[in-house]
Amino acid sequence: MVGSATMRNVIIIGSGCAGNTAALYTARANLKPLVVSGHEAGGQLSLTTLVENFPGFPEGINGPDLVENIRKQAEHFGAEYLHGSVVEADLSKRPFRLLIDGEWHETRTVIIASGASARWLGLPNEKKLIGHGVSSCATCDGFFYRGKKIMVVGGGDSAMEEANFLSRYASRVYLIHRREEFRASKIMIDRAKGNEKVEFVVPHVIEEILSPQGLVNAVRLYNTKTGEKRTIDVDGVFVAIGHDPNSTVFKGKLEMDENGYLIASHGSLTNIPGVFIAGDVQDHRYRQAVTAAGSGCMAALDAEKFLEEHKD
Ligand code: NAP
Repeated sequence: MVGSATMRNVIIIGSGCAGNTAALYTARANLKPLVVSGHEAGGQLSLTTLVENFPGFPEGINGPDLVENIRKQAEHFGAEYLHGSVVEADLSKRPFRLLIDGEWHETRTVIIASGASARWLGLPNEKKLIGHGVSSCATCDGFFYRGKKIMVVGGGDSAMEEANFLSRYASRVYLIHRREEFRASKIMIDRAKGNEKVEFVVPHVIEEILSPQGLVNAVRLYNTKTGEKRTIDVDGVFVAIGHDPNSTVFKGKLEMDENGYLIASHGSLTNIPGVFIAGDVQDHRYRQAVTAAGSGCMAALDAEKFLEEHKD
């Protein structure tokens, strides 16, 4: 015991698709996992509407329902959920110690599935319009914009990729970027520029997203060089200005790349035996609900095997 907390077999950090799947598997293995739900409970799925590409749901399923269902499934087998966030982690020796809302918790293994948070522009009505014309995920929501006009914001590879991807559905894609130079790789820029449906509008930033009926119908922009304003009618705004992995607590403790994504080896293993990783905190490439769920399963099986091999 440390403070009033009990020693755990496994603490799972994060309650998105990866964390909840890891909870389901470790709960079914009778490990009685504790899931720390984090400041964005439900993860990225809780910010989407209909998910049509998660296998097993021919009619699609709402993102928040999907993630809640996995949670219920995990709870059914004994997973416990704790509302809160890990603010400090001592991974220097086992058992590991995690500080969660002022209380230290001890655990034999840790599964980090803390996700990555999409960056937003910070406009007043932006978050309120998520699912009503504002999105941060082209793969999730592009399908809903068949024959419609949309805007993609950003100048990196994600923005170029999303603009190209969305042009499959949209009648017109406006790519808005605050500068005339792009961070994206040349090949990605060339591909977007060569796409006749994609129109570059630079250097511009969004001043306001207009949504008189609660749905996006236009965007007011201004030119950062001339200050000139213009309004473009669109049905959707895709914000593609990057993601930030939720890995700050593990800086200097776990291997991460220059953008803060944790580095996995052999599935879910990290440089610290007994600490496993899953989902978007270690994946900037696929970022899908189904890949997050798959990696949560892998981390759970790895944790289970580790506990079996380290019965101290
Ligand atoms: P990124 O490279 O960090 O680019 C973010 C873009 O958003 C930049 O152009 C930035 O503008 C702009 N931006 C940031 N904050 C903004 C704000 N508040 N308002 C307006 N614009 C803002 O992010 P990313 O495109 O998501 O890429 C992340 C990593 O994944 C990169 O390493 C990328 O190469 C990789 N990636 C690769 C592929 C691929 O190869 N297929 C696809 C997607 C992502 P400034 O340039 O002015 O700062």
